[in-house]
Amino acid sequence: MSVKQDSCRRCGKCCNEGGPALHGPDLELITSGRIPLSALITLRKGELAHNPVFGKVSAIDNELVKLKGTGREWNCCYYDSQENSCTIYDFRPQACGVLKCWDPEDLLDMIGKDNLARLDILTEEDPLRSIISEHDRLYPCPELEEISSLAADMSDKMKRNLQKLANEDLRFRTRVVKEFDLKLSHELFYFGRPVFQLLQPLGAKVRESALGIELLWVKSKD
Ligand code: SF4
Ligand code: SF4
Repeated sequence: MSVKQDSCRRCGKCCNEGGPALHGPDLELITSGRIPLSALITLRKGELAHNPVFGKVSAIDNELVKLKGTGREWNCCYYDSQENSCTIYDFRPQACGVLKCWDPEDLLDMIGKDNLARLDILTEEDPLRSIISEHDRLYPCPELEEISSLAADMSDKMKRNLQKLANEDLRFRTRVVKEFDLKLSHELFYFGRPVFQLLQPLGAKVRESALGIELLWVKSKD
């Protein structure tokens, strides 16, 4: 007979599935420097994310700021897999404090409420605020759900537009990083993942050339 779980077994599964989205009460962790910008990643409006309420991956309606993964993986950057422990346990974000995998009600209750966005985190005087808004206006996250359903069956025009967007997004980032002397480790917070990276899981192969990047669509929807 299996024993009903009623406490955390420290298996690390939840931490390995990804760092939490941050909420209003977590702001102090950032402003106090306990959690630096280099540990954050922004998911811009329209990016695909697993929605635990609906149990499926869908485009998000509002941006989220989360704790980063490690490298290209989503496992939380503060999880110590050798020790099976959280390295910021005493000041972990609110969502981690309420997470009980055996009783997810409290966590589900937080989803989509009081999420921190980049402009909540940056001070009013920060010159990057207007740059972030400009980036979102000029180079928004493309329609990933539609792209995912079409993949290689997209029209040539759509593919060309995506390639243009991916290149312009990269040029914008490169210019801003240089102009504001930004740390590269902060780029994922300020601008989220580059457009080309969002397209790779949907079937885009990236080839670099002297003229920029070329997107090759290899996955058909059939
Ligand atoms: S909350 Fe659940 S999934 Fe997370 S570490 Fe504890 S037992 Fe594992
Ligand atoms: S902050 Fe700590 S508890 Fe929260 S996901 Fe990361 S390692 Fe796990």
